[in-house]
Amino acid sequence: MKRTFILLSLVLVSIISSLNARAAIHATEEYPAVIGQYFQFMRAENSDLGVYDALQAFKSGKFTPSQSAVMNFGIGAKPVWLALDVTNAHHEPIVRQLLLENAWLDKIDVFFFRENQLVSSFHTGDSLPFSQRPINHRFFVIEHTFNHGDTLILIRVEADDAMVLPIYFMNAEQLERKDLLNAYSYGLMYGAIVALVAYNLVLYIGLRIGSYLLYSIFLLFFIALNLAYTGHGYQWLWPDSPHWQRWASAVLIAAGTTSGFAFTLQFLDVKKTWPRVYRFIILGCLFFCTLVLAAMFLDELVVALAISFVFIFCFYVAAVILGIISLKIGNKFAKYFLIASILTICGGVITANAVWGFIPFNWLTYRAVDIGMTLDAILLALALAARFEMNQREKLAAEKMAGIDLLTNLNNRRSFYKYVKPIWSISLRSKSSTSVIMLDLDNFKLLNDNYGHALGDQVLVQLAETLQREARSGDILARWGGEEFLIFLPETRLQDAITIAERVRNKISLLQVSSEKGEKLTISASFGVVSNQNNHISLDELIASADQQLYRAKKQGRNCVCSDFSAAGGSGASEGLDR
Ligand code: GH3
Ligand code: MG
Ligand code: MG
Repeated sequence: MKRTFILLSLVLVSIISSLNARAAIHATEEYPAVIGQYFQFMRAENSDLGVYDALQAFKSGKFTPSQSAVMNFGIGAKPVWLALDVTNAHHEPIVRQLLLENAWLDKIDVFFFRENQLVSSFHTGDSLPFSQRPINHRFFVIEHTFNHGDTLILIRVEADDAMVLPIYFMNAEQLERKDLLNAYSYGLMYGAIVALVAYNLVLYIGLRIGSYLLYSIFLLFFIALNLAYTGHGYQWLWPDSPHWQRWASAVLIAAGTTSGFAFTLQFLDVKKTWPRVYRFIILGCLFFCTLVLAAMFLDELVVALAISFVFIFCFYVAAVILGIISLKIGNKFAKYFLIASILTICGGVITANAVWGFIPFNWLTYRAVDIGMTLDAILLALALAARFEMNQREKLAAEKMAGIDLLTNLNNRRSFYKYVKPIWSISLRSKSSTSVIMLDLDNFKLLNDNYGHALGDQVLVQLAETLQREARSGDILARWGGEEFLIFLPETRLQDAITIAERVRNKISLLQVSSEKGEKLTISASFGVVSNQNNHISLDELIASADQQLYRAKKQGRNCVCSDFSAAGGSGASEGLDR
């Protein structure tokens, strides 16, 4: 019985210990994905724990096997010790790289043991100047030559920031391939965004529209933040400033979020639409930025990071809410804004879930936030372009409206001159004859007085419609004054203009308007016709002489056409009098 019990215990112990024993990494194999699951770890409650203490702890089973491919100890975690067994079954030594794909780890100490003897160690991390890195890489890369047999790697990691540990075990070629893919994709992303910054800055300089400037600033902060947390900034821009590298993420998140809010307020016109929300947001931004500054002043990085994360979270919640409300109240461009914000949020959620281990961790899920933000930036640029296009269209429409008489839909004097001046210059150069007909309703005041202003308006509208029907294409019509109209006839000799005036006069006299009491009323108009043929007079002089002819027509009893042959170089005055 006792024997059976001992045997059973031995079997159980061996099963448990075989479950507990971590599979070692085989230096001869390829590991294209993260290798967190091969590690064991121990949180260092005592930060003075030396490497031999850690080795002792590992030997006595105080390390816990990692359950996930990407180990994650959160923000502000205590230092962690990691252990990894590597076996080289070959007799040849094998060179491999250990890549810690996180650019913001403060201190990393790596120790290689063979048969309990320390064979080499590396000390890196972004609390040291970039130049002290064992390998020039934006992440942390340690190269080691694994001899035949077992090697134990002990790593101590310390970070105030999120201690997420995607770790790879690769050969040089694999690492190079991985770096190349990243280099191209970052090149594409930075290229696209730098182009957008330049484009929007140029638009701002040219148009002086504030949203373009705010958008460029927002993009610049976005790039700066991306450079900081991907380690590119430390590698390329501030290699000797570990202090800035430490604070860059928190500061740039706060600054970028503030600029994002500034752009949102301007783009969605929040100041005008919801002045209270506007003030609230400005106070909120000031509040968060002051908190981050205070945390910086007190050297509390974890607090500063937590505040800036809450700030950016508030930004996206606010962006979505403001976007939805703006869309509801009819701001067409809010939809771009909303989709853009949602894309970034989705990207952020995917990356966060990949990092926290809820979805597979791979290149796409890790970079989802970058992709989301790049799409966000592009969509906002589209939104700005669409809004600019609409503003232009509205401006053109308003300009056109300003040149049109609202009652008759004919040109007013302003747009008459705008259209006529170039044609007039051409006619002077080509010495072709141009004619002008001026007409005025007869006894219109009487009609107004007897039948009311509304009926008078109706008559004016009918008259304008008649003019539009009778005018040839190329003729330019205008309401010159109250009941006075002008027809500008390019390339038209006086005689033809007189014929046209007669035809129009005839059509007007055939018009019928019904009074309120059902009376059928007829109207008439008087005409003055002139032409500039062979004459060096100005446009205004020509119009003035048309007015004189009109005056003559009135004097001669109205409802007639008067013209001045002498103005056209003809022989004396010719009047078409038709009563
Ligand atoms: P004549 O044959 O000499 O031109 O006499 P008239 O009454 O037509 O000319 P007068 O210049 O004395 O009066 C013009 C009238 O046109 C006076 C004004 O009330 C009217 N009028 C001007 N603009 C409008 C308008 O937009 N609508 C209406 N209903 N009447 C207008
Ligand atoms: Mg009149
Ligand atoms: Mg008049």
